[in-house]
Amino acid sequence: MTSLTSKLNENGQGASTRAVHGGAKRDKGFHAMTTPIVQTATYAFANTAKVIEFLDAKVYGGELDREEYARYGNPSVWSLERRIANLEVAEDAVVYPSGMSAVTSLFLTVLRPGSHIVMTDDCYRRTRQFCETTLKKFGIETSIVPMGDRDALEAAILPRKTRFIFTETPTNPYLRVADLNRVAELGKQHRALTLLDTTFATPVNLRPLEFGIDFVMHSATKYFGGHNDVLAGVIAGASGRIKALKDARGIFGNVIDPHQAFLVERGLKTLALRVRHQNASALKVARFLEDHPKIDRVYYPGLESHPDHDIACDQMSGFGGVVSFEVAGDINATSDFIDRLRIPYIAPSLGGAESLIEQPAYFSYYDLSSEEREAIGIKDNLARFALGIEDAEDIISDLEDSLTQVPARAAIGKV
Ligand SMILES: *Cc1c(COP(=O)(O)O)cnc(C)c1O
Repeated sequence: MTSLTSKLNENGQGASTRAVHGGAKRDKGFHAMTTPIVQTATYAFANTAKVIEFLDAKVYGGELDREEYARYGNPSVWSLERRIANLEVAEDAVVYPSGMSAVTSLFLTVLRPGSHIVMTDDCYRRTRQFCETTLKKFGIETSIVPMGDRDALEAAILPRKTRFIFTETPTNPYLRVADLNRVAELGKQHRALTLLDTTFATPVNLRPLEFGIDFVMHSATKYFGGHNDVLAGVIAGASGRIKALKDARGIFGNVIDPHQAFLVERGLKTLALRVRHQNASALKVARFLEDHPKIDRVYYPGLESHPDHDIACDQMSGFGGVVSFEVAGDINATSDFIDRLRIPYIAPSLGGAESLIEQPAYFSYYDLSSEEREAIGIKDNLARFALGIEDAEDIISDLEDSLTQVPARAAIGKV
């Protein structure tokens, strides 16, 4: 992995150049500038000799430069996979129709009954549910440890049973940042695979494989697609491991549609432009909110007040486009504040051109009571702002206008 990293860095290309050209074939067919959408279910052979030539290469190993059947491969999908692998400095990548499809396929392919997973507590809620319900049915146990508790992470590892250490960076909604050197080292020491979900960071800000992490995953629905118009997911890593996942995908049948792949590839070209803009606006917004009297607390790894600020500075080249904060008021004052905003849409998700805002108490945790949410650290007055690509000044004046209308605490009476 190290040699691959240095080879890619040797040509000195920046993230934007790589986002546009990296991993792309110069000749994409039909003299087209963009990768054609190859909308086909099957592929034809000229004669039996061509069939045999193809099968020889497939079975005995050789240069496979054509497809056979769309569940096993599609040029639009392969192109996207090469481009993402290039950005992650990975040997290879495998793309799926959603982020959840990516993570569930990885676990189902690699784990067996009796395996054990260690994951950190503010991982994506559906991933955690999959581990605690579906995987449990197959005899696979999951231990959840508090994010940022290094000792608990090590203590949860069961010798010879723990097959995966899984964490995210930055996490949702508190934007915690894992110490990747430490996670990679624990994995190697205990022969456990390490998996990092860096949907919130993107390879523009963080490339976990360079730290020795085995697999990186993304919901490509978010920054990769970048326009709130497509679902996709990806896993990148060493070629042998990714090949096993591609073989499994041919059996599971969870293939991405070529048009979906095209949309993600188109989004990728502006990834670095968008993410750098979002990094800069998010930092401005976070600083503005931190100084505002109607805000109790701001969570953003770019702020000195964030518990993981130092590790984020060491590891990341930008802190991402999501800012979480607590409004100085109760659950209703917070939703009123959100309802008054004019720029962001009230919606789950992140990473697109449009800013989105949500109140986690409602969006992801409506089924829990206020006390249950409090127990897992989700406060009623918490808001999560996922910045789009609008101008930071406009976002800030929108926030300012709505915040001035948040009633002062004294006025609603303290008990
Ligand atoms: C959205 C998201 C997922 C799930 O991805 P889908 O594309 O919605 O299936 C997983 N992890 C993180 C961190 C996410 O934000």
